[in-house]
Amino acid sequence: MERSEIIIGGDTAGISWRVPLFRFRGSDAGAPSVHIQAALHANELPGTALLHFLLERLRKAEAEGAIRGDITVIPQANPIGLAQSHFGEMEGRFDLGTRTNFNRDFPLVALGERDMLLADIDRRSAVDQLKRRLLHEALGADLVLDLHCDDESVQYAYIDGAFWPEAADLAAALDMRAVFLSDGESTAFEEAVGHAFKRREGEVAKSVPGRLSVTVELRGRRDVYPDMAARDAEGLWRFLAGRGIVADPAFAAKAYTGPAVPLDNIDMVRAPEAGTILFHRDIGDEVKAGDLLATLLLRPGEPDGTLQVTAGHDGLIATRSSARHARRGDDLMKIACREPTRKDRKPGTLED
Ligand SMILES: [Zn+2]
Repeated sequence: MERSEIIIGGDTAGISWRVPLFRFRGSDAGAPSVHIQAALHANELPGTALLHFLLERLRKAEAEGAIRGDITVIPQANPIGLAQSHFGEMEGRFDLGTRTNFNRDFPLVALGERDMLLADIDRRSAVDQLKRRLLHEALGADLVLDLHCDDESVQYAYIDGAFWPEAADLAAALDMRAVFLSDGESTAFEEAVGHAFKRREGEVAKSVPGRLSVTVELRGRRDVYPDMAARDAEGLWRFLAGRGIVADPAFAAKAYTGPAVPLDNIDMVRAPEAGTILFHRDIGDEVKAGDLLATLLLRPGEPDGTLQVTAGHDGLIATRSSARHARRGDDLMKIACREPTRKDRKPGTLED
């Protein structure tokens, strides 16, 4: 294993950012290579915990000669977000200086233009440098996993239809409850990688065998526990074994049995009015159209002061807000439905 650092000069004097990077060299030139990173949204730490345990496993595997493909691991990809503290809370999702989501505005380039990402890089802002270096690193691998998490959430992933159903092995290995099939048109990290993988000689490929770019949502922000992280690391290890990146004689493939739904089938349940939220249903619940999801206390104490929010469609509650007060229009839940629920969605991931 080789440990190195991406070093980025700050935008003001006296600051530099360091991103530790762990690289394992595979013994088999024919095996796929993989890039795995976590906490691009710096306050989403389940992936960082997972990768801590996975690195332990990979070091052991290296000592046993069991690493077949090249593996790059970045357990904490965003030191800039990690350092942002705003009124006592980490702001890990948006760059405070530009109000830009750390997981948007990645440059869209074809694979052949990869090195352009680093042209004149020293003239760019620290955040832009970070994005370009991470993307450049990822585009050197065949398989790219970006580990995020949701608010309160089951285990799920956003996967571009071009990589599905090939990526069902990842969903099975991580015991995902759902897969959201995205259409790859925003500037999230995963979609910038997918953009590069899909563009070949001016054409956009509908499927890209042997490649993968995925945003994994490792449950909710507070789901950071030693047993859970170790179990997820074991799951990711099984994925690597199945793809021949590590050798594991005990590996046995299993099938993914959960739903894989287009983003148009995601019902974003919103608060029609502001109020205190009393949830009646939890993540992981299957619901029917008409089921009571939440009561909003619009005017507490008044006889007509409540509003009931019900399910519009049958489906699985994939995520839930951790807030217990909603402003009008706030998201309360994401429900993975069996049928399309909306026609007004703009292409791209919802909000990873
Ligand atoms: Zn995220």
